[in-house]
Amino acid sequence: MQIEPQAFDRVLSSMCTEPHPVAREAAERFLATNPGDPGTYPTITALEDDAVAMLGEITGLEEPAGYIASGGTEANIQAVRIARERAETRTPNVVMPESGHFSFQKAADVLGVDLRIVPTDDSFRADLEAVRACVDEQTAMVVGVAGTTEYGRVDPISELGDIAASVGAMLHVDAAWGGFVLPFTDHEWHFGHAPVDTMTIDPHKMGQAAVPAGGLLARSDDLLDALAVDTPYLESTSQATLTGTRSGAGVASAVAAMRELWPEGYREQYVRAQHNAEWLADALEKRGYDVVEPTLPLVAADLPRSTFDALRADGWRISRTATGELRVVCMPHVTREMLASFISDLDRLEVRASAPVMGDD
Ligand SMILES: *Cc1c(COP(=O)(O)O)cnc(C)c1O
Repeated sequence: MQIEPQAFDRVLSSMCTEPHPVAREAAERFLATNPGDPGTYPTITALEDDAVAMLGEITGLEEPAGYIASGGTEANIQAVRIARERAETRTPNVVMPESGHFSFQKAADVLGVDLRIVPTDDSFRADLEAVRACVDEQTAMVVGVAGTTEYGRVDPISELGDIAASVGAMLHVDAAWGGFVLPFTDHEWHFGHAPVDTMTIDPHKMGQAAVPAGGLLARSDDLLDALAVDTPYLESTSQATLTGTRSGAGVASAVAAMRELWPEGYREQYVRAQHNAEWLADALEKRGYDVVEPTLPLVAADLPRSTFDALRADGWRISRTATGELRVVCMPHVTREMLASFISDLDRLEVRASAPVMGDD
């Protein structure tokens, strides 16, 4: 019997979603292509140029350099690698707020750089004083997050850029999740807003592309040169990616999704997701839970551990922040109906929990 993939109808924890139908179709068509070998697969290579150009349009960059990576993790590792290669010191460090993604821990381990983690402020954004106090002449990169994984917060990117510039460090913005919703907000987050050097933006999250499609962007080609290695047996002469053979499906689906949805489709998706997040935050608040206001379509709320566990046992795919709050990501597959059903399950559980225990008298 053929095993079916699981449905998305109870998935509230994922930062990925069902690919858009055009993205699914493009992924299938380009399944057997390898953009890691451009001399042999020129069609997918040309599509990758389109993908990077469109990502540039989304992120305020007229002549973008970059490529479609396996995901945000690879893009972040590669950004750190660029900074390390360009640093003048042999003991470089990277400064990042505690809201930064754990992929930077992997980058630091693999690349042998010192990762310095600074606190966030009351609004869950990078604490600028702490960043200022942490950078020094050895700092190769300052990381700002545009759409944090736990609370969907956007760091003060321009100010982080000033701090980075003050010590000659690069500025990297991690918009892996936020990149496809931020264009429809007032946040200042991209290359056009601040002196950003490199950015991570994942089509396979809010971009509705098929996995694997992450994105690494750089302000100019010479930044990517830091990554290039010679490729003796390929027709092309060098390769800047971390992986060798990689998925043409991800590249083709990213292009298909962006062509279909940028900008109006993504705007509608953002508006719907943001309304859903606000509706959920409101519903949880009314029931007496502490809620972290959703500035982007991501809701965190303090639920008792037992309630959280019971909801999971009911089949809800939910996750927790580092401090134990419920975390719901309002991805495109998350409908109002789903959230209403989630809340009604929550109500049922709470009624049961508060009901007097029946004795046998
Ligand atoms: C998801 C995410 C990542 C990691 O991306 P993958 O595609 O899972 O490797 C990095 N940074 C942020 C902010 C993310 O949300």
